[in-house]
Formats: sequence, structure tokens, C-alpha cells
Amino acid sequence: MTSVTVLGLGPMGHALATAFTAAGHPTTVWNRTPEKGDDLNAIVADTATEAITASPLVVVCVLNHQVARSLLDTDALKGRTLVNFTGGSPRQARAMATWAAEHDIGYIDGVIMATPAAIGGPEAALFYSGSGDAYETHRPALAALGENANYLGEDPGRAAAFDASLQDLFWTAMSGVVHTFALAAAENIGPSDIAGHAKAMLGFFSDMIDQVARQVAAGHFPGDDSTITSAAAAMDHILGTIRANDLDNGVLSAARAEMQRAIDAGYGSEGVGRLAAL
Ligand code: NDP
Repeated sequence: MTSVTVLGLGPMGHALATAFTAAGHPTTVWNRTPEKGDDLNAIVADTATEAITASPLVVVCVLNHQVARSLLDTDALKGRTLVNFTGGSPRQARAMATWAAEHDIGYIDGVIMATPAAIGGPEAALFYSGSGDAYETHRPALAALGENANYLGEDPGRAAAFDASLQDLFWTAMSGVVHTFALAAAENIGPSDIAGHAKAMLGFFSDMIDQVARQVAAGHFPGDDSTITSAAAAMDHILGTIRANDLDNGVLSAARAEMQRAIDAGYGSEGVGRLAAL
């Protein structure tokens, strides 16, 4: 069983450490606030450097890349593998990988698509990119975090790029979810009256994602089912209802403006998938 070090015991770092210990990996942890490690079946190190020297595999999961870098002692990390689960952009991940290579540190950038409670189980989706050799070496230990692991290649920024693309969908969809309930309430529709219908509507998205993926791959965006012009007309009347209720309409207004850009560029008769390739 590979020894593992976890730096950072926020909700996610704590869940990662819990999963490693549950799988039987001798685990050393360090956190700025050490008491957060008290309930773990792990050694709580006094310093980050002491924790790093305890294991060949070092996982860091803290607030941001700046904090992560401030904790990482390059001399102690030399010859070890660093898996960075700290959220960041593709550019930050590549910068971290360059820094790691300069110091002879094996670098893997990791992305977690899960809540802390899901870590270790089948619902935790994990994305990795960076050193393929380091990933292969430590894949058995990383499996403790979840079997749904996706290695995306040597480009260290690729996992963060998947993260950004998928979170683009998540947050714009989440905005739609909360706005649905705000508009429904303004129109005297109770949450339980509309929740089931909202879920059924989101069910369409699985097919739509496949359709747009096919269209983007082919570079062809037929408007057979619905055109950008007709989608814009639908948005106009929904925006009218939103404004009539004095609600904030920022996200839908921005989506409507995207439609207008496509119409102005001459794509009004094409399908909405065209917006992915404007
Ligand atoms: P936070 O993002 O709040 O990070 C908390 C951790 O960062 C704690 O260990 C905290 O130490 C440490 N920290 C913050 N500032 C400093 C500092 N100046 N010096 C040293 N340590 C510091 O909590 P999470 O655990 O939720 O998230 C960690 C990472 O995991 C984030 O990048 C996040 O994007 C990612 N993530 C989180 C998910 C979640 O659902 N929570 C889901 C997917 C990814 P202390 O305990 O002492 O405050």
C-alpha cells in the first residue's frame, strides 16, 4: 500500500484523506488548522514539509493555486509525485507543471466533479492530466478516491479545461434552475407544482447534448427542428414575462444577445448548435 500525504483538510481535502485511510493507505496529513485532522486515522504532521517527506505520493487540495504553491517545498518534493486537486484554470495548471518539472517533481493535475460525500464512491468523477508515467505508477492508490477516473493525457491543462467546460454548463444551468423557481413564484406557481415539470424538461438535454456534439463535429447545423430565429422569438416573450414581474433577467438576456449575434451574422435559419461555432 503506497503511503499518501494530503495537504489541506477543507471539506474536500478531508474527504480525500478519509478515502485513502479507508482503503488502507498509510496517510499523513497537514493542514493550517491542524485540529481538522483529529478525527482521521492518519498522522498529523507539524509542517507541510514534514508531511511531504512522509510519502512518495503527495496530494494538495486547498483554496487556490497561490496557497498551494506557498505550501510546497521544492527540495522535499524532488523525486515525488504531486497530485494537485486545487481548483484552477488550464493556464494555472500548465504553470504549476512547468514549475514542477523545473524541480524534478512528477506532476498530475486533478479535477474532482463530486461533492466531498461522494469521494470514494461510483458517483465521484475524477479527471487527471499531466505525467502519464506518474499517473500509471500511482493509479492504484488514486483508485481509492473513485473508480470513475479519466486520464486525459500529458497536457497538464487538459483536466482543468474539462472542468471549465463542464462547469460552464453547470453554472449557467444552475442559474436557469433557480430563475425558474423565481419566475414561477412571481406567477403564483408553487415550487412543488413545477419541480417535476422542470426535471422532465432537463431530461431533454441528454439528447440535445448528443445532437450538438454531432453537429459541432460535422460543422453542420441544420435548423430542421428549430431555428435560431424561432428560439430568439421564444426568448423574447419569456423575457417579456420576466420583465413584467420586475425580475432580474441577466442570464437569459445574455443568451438572447448571443442569438442576435448569430442572426446578424446570417445564421438565423440554422439550429442553435451553430452558437458553439460562431
Ligand atoms: P476550500 O476551497 O475552502 O479550501 C480550504 C482549505 O484551504 C483548507 O485546508 C484551508 O485551511 C486551506 N487554506 C485556505 N487558505 C489558506 C492559507 N492562506 N494557507 C494555508 N491553507 C489555507 O475548501 P474545499 O476543501 O471545499 O476545497 C478545496 C479545493 O477543492 C478547492 O480548490 C475546490 O475548488 C476543490 N473542490 C471542492 C469541492 C467541494 O465540493 N468542496 C468540489 C470539487 C472541487 P484551514 O482549514 O486552516 O482554513
